[in-house]
Amino acid sequence: MKITVLTLFPEMFDSLRHSVIGRAIAGGIIEFNVRNIRDFSADKHFRCDDMPYGGGAGMVMTPQPIVSAFVAIDPEHKARRIYLSPKGRVLDQNLAKELAAEDELLLLCGHYEGIDQRALDITLCEEVSVGDYILTGGELPAMTLIDCVCRFVKGVLGSEESAGEESFSEDGLLEYPHYTRPQVFEGLEVPPVLISGHHANIKKWREKQATETTRKNRPDLLREDK
Ligand code: SAM
Repeated sequence: MKITVLTLFPEMFDSLRHSVIGRAIAGGIIEFNVRNIRDFSADKHFRCDDMPYGGGAGMVMTPQPIVSAFVAIDPEHKARRIYLSPKGRVLDQNLAKELAAEDELLLLCGHYEGIDQRALDITLCEEVSVGDYILTGGELPAMTLIDCVCRFVKGVLGSEESAGEESFSEDGLLEYPHYTRPQVFEGLEVPPVLISGHHANIKKWREKQATETTRKNRPDLLREDK
């Protein structure tokens, strides 16, 4: 899969080059490019923002550098184009799976008060939000989306890191709690069922824990039949 990000702050994306996603990029499973919107500005000072028409606080990102960047990077509109925006469809596992099936994503990060609407209308970006809160820029949302989507791209997760049994997967529940060594830590013991070797009981225990955690933390996720 190819992912290209358009941003005014390319260096922020260095943090993606670590851990699981970093390995996927280094191994060529994900082709990852970060492009600076400023490089496409026709302004002699490479400005990319200006005051809002109609007044109001903050600056707005101008349309020209953004539209020029899309024309240069994706001239035939082959990529699925996404503007990270609090006004968009909220990212969840279903959307992440859908995006992971694409060959190419082109992600646009806003900053300041946002982007001149004409740039979004011309580039035909769909809007995706990471939740009902406001961040300073689209960079962290883009990184969140990339991390979440790449986990569904074949070969990104090792066999020991399956995406199948996690919170929000098939059964729609939050995940059961995990334990590792030592068996007793600060007087707290690992639940005995987990060291019983009885797989059916372990499965039953985990299902019960998952349901209880979901009921306590996210009752909205529980289906009628749970
Ligand atoms: N004035 C905008 C509003 O009220 O909807 C918020 C602008 S925000 C300060 C600047 C940029 O951060 C946005 O253009 C967007 O790219 C990004 N952003 C902020 N919150 C976001 C969220 N929840 N999801 C996705 N992107 C977000």
